Amino acid sequence: MENIHTNDALKNALYDKSYACPVCNQAFTAKSVKVGKNQVVSVDSDLYPRYSVVNPILYDALMCPHCGYSAITKSFDSLLPKQKEWIKAQICANYKAHAYSEYTTLPEGIHKHKMALLTCMTKKGKTGEQAYIALHIAWLYRDLGDENNELSFLTRAYEGFEEALSTERFPIFGLDEMTVMYILADIAYKFGKISEAKKYLSVIITSPGISGRIKDRALELKDKINHQS
Ligand SMILES: [Zn+2]
Repeated sequence: MENIHTNDALKNALYDKSYACPVCNQAFTAKSVKVGKNQVVSVDSDLYPRYSVVNPILYDALMCPHCGYSAITKSFDSLLPKQKEWIKAQICANYKAHAYSEYTTLPEGIHKHKMALLTCMTKKGKTGEQAYIALHIAWLYRDLGDENNELSFLTRAYEGFEEALSTERFPIFGLDEMTVMYILADIAYKFGKISEAKKYLSVIITSPGISGRIKDRALELKDKINHQS
């Protein structure tokens, strides 16, 4: 239940940021989360971070209101000339302007991420980028309580990250190889693929010099698996 206090905190945590669309060159503003106004309060087993005031993922998919070009913030500006042509022909040509709420709702956040995923496929973006967007869509569906869609996007993230491990350079949007392997292990465990989960966990646990946080979580998951079998 939302109250006035929550709305004030939400407003204070966001600001209007200006962007220039790399496809149509027009300017627009979108809400962005202020640094320091929002703290992580807990983290789900697959590393979905829960924040005190606002879920930054809701504001991480940008959509140009003029032409419909969509992407996550970290890849918004990076487009090759050929990719712009594909996006103009396949995304912008079919775009119909749509009014969104000032403060992104869960269904709107999901819709914008789906547009970002479609745009990423249209620009022939890397599998890792598609997997990253799919993971975030799965998390938003989790908050919506829509388990079928959550699992379907987790599957997509799993397959994409698995492929990216052997074909792409890391980090992918800040996720290093071990972090991605841990996410894969957790998703595999969720789907009952125990031998896959164990395979990723053993790589993490036996790797020297990896971050304590990921190693601890990997040990925790290994423990959970061992106590079940
Ligand atoms: Zn545009």
